[in-house]
Amino acid sequence: MAVLERTLMGPGPSNPYPEATAALSAPMLGHLDPAFLAILDETCDRLRSAWQTANARTLPLSGTGSAGMEAAFVNLVGPGDVVVVGVNGLFGERMCEVARRCGAEVVRAEAPWGRPLDPADVVAAHPSPKLIAVVHAETSTGVENDVAAVAAGKGDALVLADCVTSLAGIPVDLDAWGVDVAYSGTQKCVGVAPGLAPFTLSDRAWEQRVARPQSWYLDLGLVGEYVGGQGGRKYHHTAPVSMIRSLHAGLGVVLDEGLPSVWARHAECGRLLHEGLQSLGLELWVDADHRLPELTTVLVPAGVDASKVRAQLLDRFSIEIGAGVGPHVDRMWRIGCMGHTARPANVKLLLAALAEVLER
Ligand SMILES: *Cc1c(COP(=O)(O)O)cnc(C)c1O
Repeated sequence: MAVLERTLMGPGPSNPYPEATAALSAPMLGHLDPAFLAILDETCDRLRSAWQTANARTLPLSGTGSAGMEAAFVNLVGPGDVVVVGVNGLFGERMCEVARRCGAEVVRAEAPWGRPLDPADVVAAHPSPKLIAVVHAETSTGVENDVAAVAAGKGDALVLADCVTSLAGIPVDLDAWGVDVAYSGTQKCVGVAPGLAPFTLSDRAWEQRVARPQSWYLDLGLVGEYVGGQGGRKYHHTAPVSMIRSLHAGLGVVLDEGLPSVWARHAECGRLLHEGLQSLGLELWVDADHRLPELTTVLVPAGVDASKVRAQLLDRFSIEIGAGVGPHVDRMWRIGCMGHTARPANVKLLLAALAEVLER
């Protein structure tokens, strides 16, 4: 079967930057080759730039974004620790489950799906939690949560931010905000194939780590050794060489373009998409104030078969958009526009295709 060129505008992988795709097919380097180690070091530096952090412990973890989530919790949370989790979508729910499996006492600070968390509720949810966890960009709903406001009110707690769909898409300024631990994924706004979890941890969080994380593979005391640290570089596991070269290349594109310009490009595409959808008579789920540019939830009009429209966009125009999640599966579409895909031409193509499929 022929491999088709698709424009991926779903909530999953976006089209990678071409440089990131090209790096995947570069000749293999050994995982201890000095040429590869130089690329690994530079990848960690580029991640620090993208996160806007000086954290020494900043690295690409082997595994998808969820491995970043798992690593954050297993290293910082042990039995009986109190963790406040902001829950207004699927990924907030997933953090609760991961924290519970670490033996945490989970305190939920909730907002309805499609609405932002109230930062005051989140910081007031418990007087002395060890960790407060929030999702910056809720991909399940298209809502942005105010991480900076939560971090500003954290008190003695550590703050964890899920930045899987925000890093390299909308402003993320970890050190200025006072975020202690954060993770991302490669396949969303970062514009690389899925497979790695950019991860960063402050010294303050490191000092409060659990003595013996329940995961050997994601124990940062061990995994940190392969990127080199205080004790030098040691074998822990074989670095996914090609994925790291691809991330290195993708971050290079992002930083060459410049973060402000990358953010402005996402914002502009979001604005075009939101205006265009509304002028087709479609209703957006999330209020303009908290609506993400990179992930847009659109209500399916009455009488329209949601999955049929998605299938037609894919078959006739090679454009993939996402279905709703959970209870909203048939009620809405989720349109991603992130990374390399976030170009006005792609937005216009989608809007024209949607107008034709919907006969509007
Ligand atoms: C996609 C996503 C994840 C999970 O990442 P995977 O790469 O699918 O493991 C976690 N959090 C958010 C907000 C996401 O969008």
